[in-house]
Amino acid sequence: MFSRASFPVIDVHTHFDPGATARQLAIMDAQNVRYAVNLSAGWAGQGLEEALAQERATGGRIVPFCMIDWQGAGAPGWVEASVGILRACAAAGVRGWKIPKVLGLAAGDGRGNRLHVDDPMLDPIFEAASALRLVVLIHSGDPRAFFEPATPSNERWAELRAHPRWSFADPRYPRWSEILDEFERRVLRHPSLRFIGAHFGNAAEDPDRVERLLQRAPNYYIDTSARIPEFGRLDPARMRAFFLRWQDRILFGTDLGVGPGESPLMLGSTGESPPTAAEVTRFWHATWRYFESNDRNFEHPTPIQGSWTISGIGLPPEVLRKVYGTNAARLLGLNLDR
Ligand SMILES: [Zn+2]
Repeated sequence: MFSRASFPVIDVHTHFDPGATARQLAIMDAQNVRYAVNLSAGWAGQGLEEALAQERATGGRIVPFCMIDWQGAGAPGWVEASVGILRACAAAGVRGWKIPKVLGLAAGDGRGNRLHVDDPMLDPIFEAASALRLVVLIHSGDPRAFFEPATPSNERWAELRAHPRWSFADPRYPRWSEILDEFERRVLRHPSLRFIGAHFGNAAEDPDRVERLLQRAPNYYIDTSARIPEFGRLDPARMRAFFLRWQDRILFGTDLGVGPGESPLMLGSTGESPPTAAEVTRFWHATWRYFESNDRNFEHPTPIQGSWTISGIGLPPEVLRKVYGTNAARLLGLNLDR
């Protein structure tokens, strides 16, 4: 049981190195993953050509989303250059644009301040994405615990100890809720632009909040990546009702990272040492078990993300099909039946 997904999967949240195609396809085939969206495809001259070549070489199974360059944000000409990057991506057949958490946490506005997710300066870039019919996958903020002091009493201490730079407790960072407010205003500002809120809508700790945005914004979808440990510990009856209610707007994602050779896999997160074979098995097994069973209090996919257990939500087959694959197929124009 749970050795692979029961229905065809599109994983909308991966980070795939174009030099590791065979390794990636082997993992996908073993887990019944038909397509994977590679969010690390960069832009022209910064990885995009290699990612497009990989897409062709895999018969379209590894789907690139491009990025823009947040380094120079706010500098003269940066907005126009960013629009140009998105135009070139769309012209090359790219379906989507990935915005990393650097927007809202670290990117500057060129005037010495933090660039807010909803800064009007960015509006022309989002409007261009809308006109180009791109899908925007956006990561804003991070787990709420990363904004609390990084001490042994923090519930994500293991992860913060391994990655001190993931702590946003310092007052120079905005608070968790502030970034979410900005992100929500951004989604609501562009009703014809299709957004995917990464990591369970960036608020796996607060499904009520996620639900309010799904209600207000019909253009809004969420992915499940790297947050089964978080929403999986909430009341399974509550989460099952959530998935049934929003069964057309939830997309499966993992945050799986696959590089070349023997490089360690990223399984939703990374620890101080590379994952063991047993941890790789557990990652997939616990993922399918969460969605497909009503089992109670079992180990979650990603040990470093917290020392608690999760309980499954036993989705019916017709809902599993949507969340695993057909919602993303419709959104991204992919054929799951071939
Ligand atoms: Zn990611």
